[in-house]
Amino acid sequence: MSYTVEPVGYLRSCFKEKFAIPRQPQLAPAARGVLELVAPFDQGDAVQGLEQVSHVWLLFVFHQALEAKPRLKVRPPRLGGNRSMGVFATRATHRPNGIGQSVVRLDKVEPGRLWLSGIDLLDGTPILDIKPYVPYADQVASASNTMASAAPALIQVQWHAEALQQAHGHASRLQEPLVALIEQCLAQDPRPAYQTPTPERQYGVRFWDVDVQWHYPEPGTIQVLGVLLAD
Ligand code: SAM
Repeated sequence: MSYTVEPVGYLRSCFKEKFAIPRQPQLAPAARGVLELVAPFDQGDAVQGLEQVSHVWLLFVFHQALEAKPRLKVRPPRLGGNRSMGVFATRATHRPNGIGQSVVRLDKVEPGRLWLSGIDLLDGTPILDIKPYVPYADQVASASNTMASAAPALIQVQWHAEALQQAHGHASRLQEPLVALIEQCLAQDPRPAYQTPTPERQYGVRFWDVDVQWHYPEPGTIQVLGVLLAD
């Protein structure tokens, strides 16, 4: 039996590529986006009452990770990318039906638009459903997961003086907490675990409409080198 689902909206996100998106929501509170609802959900009726809710669950499609052949085992980046696990034991993007779920902060509600933060979703992600977070039911005090028992360890983020100035300039142009976004995302150390970067090697990613460049001057430290308007 198969079912057809249609998006209720699409997310306009600060994240323009998969690289450097935190592995789960809430890890970068400055990561913001706007969920634009499509008809018929773009009317006030569909979101009436949602202003009473601080967080929502988003159910969405990993639209840039869809695969024809389902995998039974995956290699989660969280485990260094070299240990495989049953797909249902992980939150990997490559999974049956390609469905993701994230709890995100709901900052503002307008007819047809939800303003969100703490997101871990790519720009353009199709959203299948939105549900209010229900603390008494969704918070499980006794829950455990020994594979992912705590948030990933953070690394130190330093700034080249000029890069910090550039970031502040773009932050006020965009009216976005760009400095915090860069610090929170890079502190997660987005580089693949198998890479040992030399200080000469530069990395880059696009947040909003700016390209952020950085390097690792020494192990365990990132230095932001530039924050430039993308072409
Ligand atoms: N919180 C969700 C979950 O548990 O289902 C997502 C977890 S998944 C490990 C997070 C990663 O998904 C992000 O780091 C990003 O690289 C990737 N991602 C986010 N949106 C995506 C999309 N629309 N298509 C493909 N990959 C996406």
